[in-house]
Amino acid sequence: MIMKTYNRFEIEFVKGKGCYLYDNEGEKYLDFVAGIAVNSLGHCHPELVKTLKTQGESLWHISNLYYNKSQKELSEKLIKLSDHQSVFFCNSGTEAVEGALKVARKYGKKTNSSKILYFNNSFHGRSLGALSVTGREKYQKDFKPLIQGTQSIPFNDKEKFAESIGDDVCAVILEPIQGEGGINPIDSDFLSYIKEKCDAHNALLIFDEVQCGIGRTGAFYAYQIYDVVPDVICLAKGLGGGLPIGAFIVNKKADVLVPGDHGSTYGGNPLVTSVSNVLIDIVSKQSFLNQITEKSKYLKKQLEKLKAKKDSIVKIKGIGLMIGIEVTTDVKAIVKDALDNKLLIVNAGKNTIRLVPPLTVTKEEIDHFVNIFETLIE
Ligand SMILES: *Cc1c(COP(=O)(O)O)cnc(C)c1O
Repeated sequence: MIMKTYNRFEIEFVKGKGCYLYDNEGEKYLDFVAGIAVNSLGHCHPELVKTLKTQGESLWHISNLYYNKSQKELSEKLIKLSDHQSVFFCNSGTEAVEGALKVARKYGKKTNSSKILYFNNSFHGRSLGALSVTGREKYQKDFKPLIQGTQSIPFNDKEKFAESIGDDVCAVILEPIQGEGGINPIDSDFLSYIKEKCDAHNALLIFDEVQCGIGRTGAFYAYQIYDVVPDVICLAKGLGGGLPIGAFIVNKKADVLVPGDHGSTYGGNPLVTSVSNVLIDIVSKQSFLNQITEKSKYLKKQLEKLKAKKDSIVKIKGIGLMIGIEVTTDVKAIVKDALDNKLLIVNAGKNTIRLVPPLTVTKEEIDHFVNIFETLIE
């Protein structure tokens, strides 16, 4: 028996291609969940499949006691696209956050600080460390005591932030666009203010781009949408296109880990990094990123038209292909109705429908989505 930690739908998928999934009865579904922003090139992208097959016949896994070519290549690509210095590979978003928290605490040893600030409504993962900076009481309450020295503060609230930041803070962690919490982009002047205060108090700024990174916003890294460069970036989800990979990237200031400080058996193994390399080559092309921005504009325009017609739609939120539709009605019921109409969508928070389709979604697929969604919202 599988442990009952999820409320699953009574459906079983057996195949995926592009933006579509097929269940065990051969029914076809339009997938605007994409494994929750994971299948960034859709299902079974031919170039990823080709790489997986070729790599599968040459080398899967070796210990991180040795170098492997694709891990090296991937680190070079990720660094070249960033303003940063080095990368650590792990296997998930939670692990990327855990690593970033360790960087923060080690950095704090030099500055005699240890407090980590995080935001209400944030989501950073389920392990005890990541959960300690996840601003959802619902997720934290049954697992206390969590790690010490963390403090939650309101999102997009300068005054509250000013009251909390001080020389005792070693890091601030945030999602540039809160995903799980309801698709809430951070205000850019709030973000600039945080950056200024972090620098003044010698605290690291950590961006959790696990959901919003790797092209999702129309920029390769989400921070590139804003004018603020973080010290640490956490990545996962879209980085592997479906293979389990995570990473955290640091600048010179945050490059504090030395041999023995951190490790991962599987992290960055040849199989996952070979696929990620090909994915990065595709997603980082400026023409590909520009298409994301164009598709986002098109989708938002259609949604704004719907909003003008339907009172139940309150707000269209988000950046790039990470879009939230805030509604007055029960989101769970809409998600269930959508499934019955062969459309996969997922909620984010209580009243927001989250759209995180494959970045390869076409205009026709967007139209198909809008047609189904319009009937659901009736
Ligand atoms: C999904 C998510 C995580 C956790 O990632 P896992 O791969 O599930 O461990 C962390 N942060 C953000 C912003 C996420 O969306």
